[in-house]
Amino acid sequence: MTYVFTPEQKAAKRHRERLWTHWIICASYAIDVFLIGLFFLVGTVPWTAPALWLIMTLVAASSGYMLIHSPLKKHTENYVLTLWQLGINVGIQLIGLAAFPQLAFFFLISLFTIFCWAALNMRWQSFLVSWLLVCIAVGLVLTWVGNRISLPHGSTAEVTVVWLCIMLTLIRSSYASLFISQIRTKLLERSKLLAQSVDRIAILASTDEMTGTLNRRSIWALLEEQIKALEETPYSLSITLVDFDHFKLVNDKFGHMVGDTVLRTFGAIIRETLRANDRLGRYGGEEFLLVLPRTSADQAFDIMERLRLRVENFDWQSIKPGLKVTVSAGIATYQKGETATELLKRVDQALYKAKETGRNRSVIT
Ligand code: GH3
Ligand code: MG
Ligand code: MG
Repeated sequence: MTYVFTPEQKAAKRHRERLWTHWIICASYAIDVFLIGLFFLVGTVPWTAPALWLIMTLVAASSGYMLIHSPLKKHTENYVLTLWQLGINVGIQLIGLAAFPQLAFFFLISLFTIFCWAALNMRWQSFLVSWLLVCIAVGLVLTWVGNRISLPHGSTAEVTVVWLCIMLTLIRSSYASLFISQIRTKLLERSKLLAQSVDRIAILASTDEMTGTLNRRSIWALLEEQIKALEETPYSLSITLVDFDHFKLVNDKFGHMVGDTVLRTFGAIIRETLRANDRLGRYGGEEFLLVLPRTSADQAFDIMERLRLRVENFDWQSIKPGLKVTVSAGIATYQKGETATELLKRVDQALYKAKETGRNRSVIT
């Protein structure tokens, strides 16, 4: 099943997605507060570090929330909002780096997570520009921090917390790729469904529902296509126009439903009889046009006679006792320079002759 969303539904979905990403960012900050809290417990940083990080978490949460709910966001592209979020989050890490250089590795590896998530919503140019700006900013802060930088390794407890930080950063940055992978799988499924729907729509648009033959527009298009193809490769092209004899009487005597069944059965009989490249279309109510490529007038006559006899000899009584059905047909072969309309006019005249000379027969023009 495929769904079509209204613009409002799409906007609501986008809003939900942004909000979801925002809460993921907040959860990630909460994990950071917890990790920095652990560094405080193992003696790497003073209590001011987790306290500052708690404040930063609130800054990130409220600024993100305000960005998503600001009146600006309606007119702002997703990637612009992402750039703002990226700027705020990188800024927070740089403040951490400057304030607590003993945890430099922690703030630096957080940049991986930030960029992995931001890249989901960014364009190449803005990504490269922000990456360059971050390179410069990190370079400046690192220069300012100088040799105060260190990787905590004073005790087993400190190394364990370092290990935990790296592992949690790994999972947070990988989650972005997993997220993309899920979207890709969903997209593949959707595109398969879409392709199936397009095929189905194409069949529905070109088929006559009742008889399963081509509809008028399609058979006409096919005839014009065939005539055009003859300009490049000349070969004989024949058409036949088939019309049920006294079909009004069939309807009057047996009812419209029986008339419909006759038309459906006719479609099935003909489908079994035609060659691979022959095409049948419902041209009007009980009139069918048969396009026979690479077929001379004599061959077309033989094919049509075979069809006519199959219709005549079909066991129509199995549908309704007393029911008898016959068809008449006009046959015409394409003449050089003719248009589809002119060819059809000639075949219509042949059909008229078939009707005039007694019905249940084929006549070549
Ligand atoms: P003729 O031998 O001269 O062709 O006689 P006819 O009665 O077939 O003549 P005409 O072409 O005037 O009438 C066609 C009839 O076919 C009239 C219409 O009610 C019937 N018909 C057209 N489409 C359908 C259909 O989809 N279902 C049914 N049951 N009848 C249809
Ligand atoms: Mg008729
Ligand atoms: Mg008719």
